[in-house]
This record gives sequence, structure tokens and C-alpha cells, in this order.
Amino acid sequence: MVEDGLGRKRLDSAGGAVLGCAMRTSRAVVQTAPRRLELRELPVPDIDDDSALLRVEACGICGSDAEQYAGVLPVRLPVVPGHEPLGVIERIGDRAAKRWGVDVGDRVAVESIIRCGHCRACIGGRYQLCRGRGGLFGHGYVPLDRPPGLWGAYADYMYLDPLSIVHRVRKDIPASLAVMFNPLGAGFRWAVEIPATGPGDSVLVLGPGQRGLASVIAARAAGADTIIVTGLSRDARKLALARELGADHVIDVEREDARARVRELTGGRGAEVVIEVTANAAEPVAEALHYVAAGGRIVLAGVKGLKAVPDFVSDLVVVKEITIRGAFAVTSRAYESAIRLIESGRVPLEKMHTHDFPLEDAERAIQTLAGELPGEASIHSSLVP
Ligand SMILES: [Zn+2]
Ligand SMILES: [Zn+2]
Repeated sequence: MVEDGLGRKRLDSAGGAVLGCAMRTSRAVVQTAPRRLELRELPVPDIDDDSALLRVEACGICGSDAEQYAGVLPVRLPVVPGHEPLGVIERIGDRAAKRWGVDVGDRVAVESIIRCGHCRACIGGRYQLCRGRGGLFGHGYVPLDRPPGLWGAYADYMYLDPLSIVHRVRKDIPASLAVMFNPLGAGFRWAVEIPATGPGDSVLVLGPGQRGLASVIAARAAGADTIIVTGLSRDARKLALARELGADHVIDVEREDARARVRELTGGRGAEVVIEVTANAAEPVAEALHYVAAGGRIVLAGVKGLKAVPDFVSDLVVVKEITIRGAFAVTSRAYESAIRLIESGRVPLEKMHTHDFPLEDAERAIQTLAGELPGEASIHSSLVP
């Protein structure tokens, strides 16, 4: 490793020191229109004292990637997508290395949101709601025309902004597991941090997808008492996996009377905590009011394409004194809990990881995740440059 006199250190991809012969371009997937992705060569940015360059090892993909691809998310194009980056610090400015506590060669998980540091949300400690840099500002969401362009992780290299947040991850963990810091971080924030889940709580998770399974793992780690997961008949495989990952009971809502089953499994009280993570379906939101115990907490984290919820009986919120909270993003604390759990090896996370795709197959990766390709069922997938 060498310093080049400007406070910048660098390493070549084989781990040796280089100066003056570093890579000049990076492959990157660029979204140019809804449902249109192109593989391009983009210049690798210079970094200064406060920024860094990440060599991407893997980028997790989730429902937001499918929405971004379809053009549903308000993201300016063209853009390099990829908001769940895991990689190795390739170059870093001295000041960034000191502030972030990482150096060249360290493996890090990168948070999606890049905060401004000055707005009300940031000052109030809720930087995941920061819009101070214009709209949704974060890795995978900043357009290509904003220098240095390589903001997303569907690429060999990604730029790290002075306000990017990184978390060190042990290097001996397979990348396909380490990259699960993102869904698991969501599990810890949505199923544990927000509803303050702990021993004695029964937790009901509506939806056995990537986020639902992550919620099961997090609630189990937090010492929840009984964990129940609901799904449809076609989710049989995911429901079985939920059992392996720590759920005590699963309910097929198409074949069973879910309200009666929840009552029966919770001693007639209902669940203290209900986590709603189904995609697009509005019914589970209305049903959650029937499943939750008096005084219980409901966390809504599944988006419904801006649909209204029919049959939402607000009187139940009143008479049962239910707390309903929305959950959008993840906090640093929840990411840290996720990374510690991954590093512990306590949970068979490899059972959740179904697919790795090369960069050139980004389109197929997203379509697989969205369930658009017959015969391909994805739970957790990632792109591996
Ligand atoms: Zn995501
Ligand atoms: Zn801000």
C-alpha cells in the first residue's frame, strides 16, 4: 500500500500496492428507461481526502430493485442502481479513513441512504428520512449526471461519498451471506427496534418473503416468545423455511381461519406485535387489527402501490389502543445487529440465499426476484460483479 502524496491510499484488486497503473474504468449497469438496462464502461472516479472507492463484492437485490426497474420509484434516470452494496475498500482518503475507522482492504457493508447531516431529520437522529440533498439520495438512487456517476452497486466499483455510512464485516464470511446485512437489518429495525420486541411477546409476521423471514430471525434473536408467520398456499416452501429459521407456527391463510388460529396460538389474546411485510396486498393491513392483542403494536412495512385499504375498521385501533407504526428504512444500530448475527453463524442463512447473478444478467436477476420468470423462485438474490 502506498500514499500518493495527496492523502490517498490505494490497492490493486489482487491486494498489492499500485501507483499510477490503477484501473481506469468500471463496468456498470445503467438504467436508461423503465425496464431498460445497459452494461457500460464508466470512468472510475478520483477520490479526495474525504471519500473512498469500493470494489463491489456483491449487491443484494430486493423488492425496491423491482420497483425501480419497472419505473415505479421516483428515481431520476439514467442511474446506476444497486442500494445494498458489500465490498472492499479499494482506495480511501486519509481523513475518511480516520473518520470511518476503516482502511484499504477492509470489507464493509454500505448503508443505502447518504444523509445531508444538516436537515431537521438528520439533526433529530432520523437520517433515514433525510431529503436534504434532493429527493431520495443514496447509493443506487443518485443519477449518472451527478458527478462522479458511479453511485450504485450494479458495478465493479462504487464511489463512497464523505457522508456514506459503512460497517466493517469479517472477511471470512461468504459474500452471499455477508450481503444479507440489508434484509436482516430491516428485520431488526422493523420487527425488534420499532415495536420494542422482547421476551414474553408473541410476534406475528404477515408475509414469508425475504423481509418476513428476516423479521422471524430478528424476533427470535430478540428473545420473542411465540413467532407465527402467515402466507398463501403457494408460499408453502417459504413457510417451511420460516419454521427452520425460528418460527414456532405457520398459517396458510387460504386454507385456515387465520383469526381463530392466531387467537388459539396466543392464549386468546392475539399477538403483541404484528409485522406487515406482504407486497401489494391491502387485505393483511385490515386483518392485522383483528390479529393484534389489546395494547399491541402493528408495524407496516409492505408497500401497496399507493392503494387504499378496504375494510379498515378504525374503531379497533381505538378500543384496543393499538399503536400503528410505519417502517421505511433501516438504522445503523439495526445494521450492526444484523452483521453481528451473520458473523455469529448461529442461523442457517444460506437456506435463504437462492441466486447469484453476474452483472450482465441484472435484468434476469430482477425478473426472477419479482417472480416474473416461470419456475424460478427467489428468496434472496444478489448480483456478483
Ligand atoms: Zn433493498
Ligand atoms: Zn439530512
